[in-house]
Amino acid sequence: MLADKQNNTTVDIGTARARRLDISVNETFSPPRLNLFSLDNLAARLQTSLEIDRLWKFFLDEIHHVIPSCALSYRHADTDFHLQLGETTKFDMSYSLSNQGDCLGELRVFNHAPFCEWTLSELERAIDCMLFPVRNALLYRRAIQASLKDPLTGTGNRAALEQSLTREAELSRRHGQALSVIMLDMDYFKNLNDRYGHQAGDAALRATALLLKEQLRNVDMVFRFGGEEFVLVLSSTGPEAAAIVAERIRAAIQNLFFLIGEKQVRLSASLGCATYRPYESHEELLLRADQALYQAKRDGRNRIRAAAAV
Ligand code: GH3
Ligand code: MG
Ligand code: MG
Repeated sequence: MLADKQNNTTVDIGTARARRLDISVNETFSPPRLNLFSLDNLAARLQTSLEIDRLWKFFLDEIHHVIPSCALSYRHADTDFHLQLGETTKFDMSYSLSNQGDCLGELRVFNHAPFCEWTLSELERAIDCMLFPVRNALLYRRAIQASLKDPLTGTGNRAALEQSLTREAELSRRHGQALSVIMLDMDYFKNLNDRYGHQAGDAALRATALLLKEQLRNVDMVFRFGGEEFVLVLSSTGPEAAAIVAERIRAAIQNLFFLIGEKQVRLSASLGCATYRPYESHEELLLRADQALYQAKRDGRNRIRAAAAV
């Protein structure tokens, strides 16, 4: 049997285990055992990493013994993970990987020729081997993602800001690209809490975080710095563009239709911008943005101020 484009198969951990133990879950299914490559070797390599991209690299290395020109793509929407290894070609097989209804991602394997029955059988034995390691790697990835997220607003937390600023500053130094940050602090936020309660304050922070994400490009990043303060990291952005973004955000917060019960409540924020100077630390960059923010507060709030460019 030759398998052509767009075959889709669901591979579940329970079924995979039964297959590995040679328990027939389907009486008519009896895969040929060609042993063209060693599953032991793959299994041993899979023990060495919890990084999902490395697991698929190991898989591809081993499957090359059976399908020399194969490539793959793997996507797990829930954890926002996408990987492609090798060039896509005309013939492909698609697999939905799952465990007890929990999606473990979508795998596509590409080949320059149609898949014949024995390559499919070997391929699927190797996929079976992947399921537990992939499930564990996804759990690990979810845990890492959760540890970098602010639970109230879903933005990055301070640890994530630290990581991202270190990376962005390094890129900026290496490629000479501009990098700007905006520090934002809600105005008179204590009054809002005192008047309408802490829950209303929390809802205002969530609404502000959503607005920030909507106002920014995909490559920009939003972090909750603490309390009612946010930091925006804008890569490839110089001082003029940062000031335009900051003003757009200030205006959007002022115009936000934020309801507490039936009542529309006005919010506002003050913002400080700073653009990275080569070889300053990211703490210094944040400090300059913070000083600009406090200037905006002193000058009357609901406005933006920028740190000196040099
Ligand atoms: P300013 O314009 O000078 O920034 O005044 P402010 O009232 O915003 O500043 P202040 O620093 O005096 O108060 C910050 C307030 O933010 C106090 C605190 O109750 C509130 N806040 C901080 N974190 C949270 C939170 O997670 N949820 C809620 N609801 N309020 C918070
Ligand atoms: Mg404030
Ligand atoms: Mg504050």
